[in-house]
Amino acid sequence: SAQQRKDLQAFRNRLPIFSVKGHLLTEIQKVKTAIIIGETGSGKTTQIPQYLYERGLISKQIAVTQPRRVAAISLAQRVATELGVNVGGKVGYCVRFEDVTSPETKIKFMTDGMMLRETLLDPLLKRYSVIILDEAHERTVQTDILFGVVKAAQRKRTEQGHHPLKVFYTAQTQSDYMFASIVTLFQLHKENPDRGDVLIFLTGQDEIDAAVKMIRSVARDLDHSLPRITVYPLYAALPSHQQLKVFEPAPQGVRKVVVSTNIAETSVTISGIKYVIDSGRVKAKVYNPNSGLDLLRVVQASKDQCIQRMGRAGREEPGTCYRLFTEREFERFRDNTMPEIQRSNLASVVLQLLGLGITRVFDFDFIDPPSEELLSSALIELQQLGAVEGIPDADLTPLGKQMLAYPLVPRLAKVLLLASTHGCLEEILTIVSMLSVDSVMVNPTNKKDEAQAARDKFMSSEGDHITLLNIFRAHKAAKSSKQFCQCNFLNGRNLSTATSVRKQLRDICTRQGLEVTSCGRTTTSVRKCLAAGFFMSAAQLQKEGEYLTLASNEPVSIHPSSALARSKPAVVIYTELVKTTKCYMRDVSVVDPSWLTEAATDYFRRKRLGHVNT
Ligand code: ADP
Ligand code: MG
Repeated sequence: SAQQRKDLQAFRNRLPIFSVKGHLLTEIQKVKTAIIIGETGSGKTTQIPQYLYERGLISKQIAVTQPRRVAAISLAQRVATELGVNVGGKVGYCVRFEDVTSPETKIKFMTDGMMLRETLLDPLLKRYSVIILDEAHERTVQTDILFGVVKAAQRKRTEQGHHPLKVFYTAQTQSDYMFASIVTLFQLHKENPDRGDVLIFLTGQDEIDAAVKMIRSVARDLDHSLPRITVYPLYAALPSHQQLKVFEPAPQGVRKVVVSTNIAETSVTISGIKYVIDSGRVKAKVYNPNSGLDLLRVVQASKDQCIQRMGRAGREEPGTCYRLFTEREFERFRDNTMPEIQRSNLASVVLQLLGLGITRVFDFDFIDPPSEELLSSALIELQQLGAVEGIPDADLTPLGKQMLAYPLVPRLAKVLLLASTHGCLEEILTIVSMLSVDSVMVNPTNKKDEAQAARDKFMSSEGDHITLLNIFRAHKAAKSSKQFCQCNFLNGRNLSTATSVRKQLRDICTRQGLEVTSCGRTTTSVRKCLAAGFFMSAAQLQKEGEYLTLASNEPVSIHPSSALARSKPAVVIYTELVKTTKCYMRDVSVVDPSWLTEAATDYFRRKRLGHVNT
């Protein structure tokens, strides 16, 4: 539990070794071999591996040898407990006939005998960044042999250049990490013009495209004595032929630079990378209780992610990782990526729990409990949608029960259910499906304007939802042809996923006895349904040309790619918010204020009648 974890942390910080932690780590980093002497029970065996791991100094594994089998097992258990993980995951052990490790394992306790066995198979001990020979004072035969073997491995690794990675931190906090990454790139290019490709971790498509552009323009004016640079972006939405380019080796004498999202952290491996520049940032889904929407936001990466990124350098030769944050900042990064349940809209989870008859959601024993704030905002959202009554011991309404049948966030489920009574379920099915898949628009870096122009004909003055509907209809009319997708810069794969999602949703609707009818060309009712589900995500135009959200008076803007970016209607609803330099509404529709009032009045009427108590 959280309390136990706190107690363990307090215990760790009371151990004698904790008082010399900083000093110890500084000294260890200066040398290749360190001898550490301390009293029994001071924390050498259990703490040092954790300190090294926490500092992000370990790209591969740490091995800790023990003369006795039982010690290896119990120490692994102890350290796993202190880290709050299971044995066999991040912490494992390996003794004769029992290998409880996994590819995830970072700290590995093992008997001297097992370590010796491994050196026979791999004399360079390549899978380890650090080897700790524990209880060395006992001078058992095995430990004494290990001294020699490990020393030899160390010498050979130095000769062959299998050095541990070099890690550099910035001296000061960097407010503009994108700029810092470019400065770092050209500095390292000047200082090490010899060879080795560079991988830069930034957060998202727009940022990466901008960085690539900037690098290209700086590279053009570069001193002619320096090698040339070729630079590629890498992110999931990039067309696949462009993604493949990053794997091609650069021509002789040219340095390759790849600017990537966290996709290159684990999913893909690019060979030849010698330098990693890590912004220490990542784009993640974060639930914003104010807007009630999942927001894609740039947040700090976790230690695990930074360690992964660092490990991408020097897979073939000694590498270097430049971290664009200070060492102190890094120490405060989270260990792991936060479980999604703690940072997303919980309305779906809460709806499911209520469906299972678990009404006291605040008492539910989550493995990683979300905050009370997130839970109560989820309940309020369900209440606003008319899916529950009575808080905190909430009950599902008949509408709430119906919503359970759909694998959709409650807002979209509500829109869908309403659509059948408004005679526009065909259209809503399409829009909901299009919103459920990754973007169907392709934006090649070099042809952004061309892509936008090609898709202009689908743009609706009613907004982006109707635009999505138009795209889907046109794609279908063109028999989903490849050529159609190419000419219009559309992602055929995502469009066909949307088609399949639509079919599944439609099947559920028919099974539930909903009437699947079409409103034809007049799509007002479509927007009316959207407004009823998203009335809490509405914004109103201000005199200055910017928008304020109706629910929380936060400043927002219409995303430049939106069909409504230029027309700026008085009142809009949005189904996605993106935070970059500003808070942008993406997927926006024009609505009539009276529709919002209607939806809100319905909510307040139920509230007044005592069905809802907040
Ligand atoms: P050292 O290696 O310096 O002798 P350890 O790191 O093994 O010290 O242990 C540090 C402290 O952690 C010990 O004083 C003990 O209180 C606690 N500890 C170690 N192993 C366990 C365990 N399996 N269960 C409970 N406490 C433990
Ligand atoms: Mg010990």
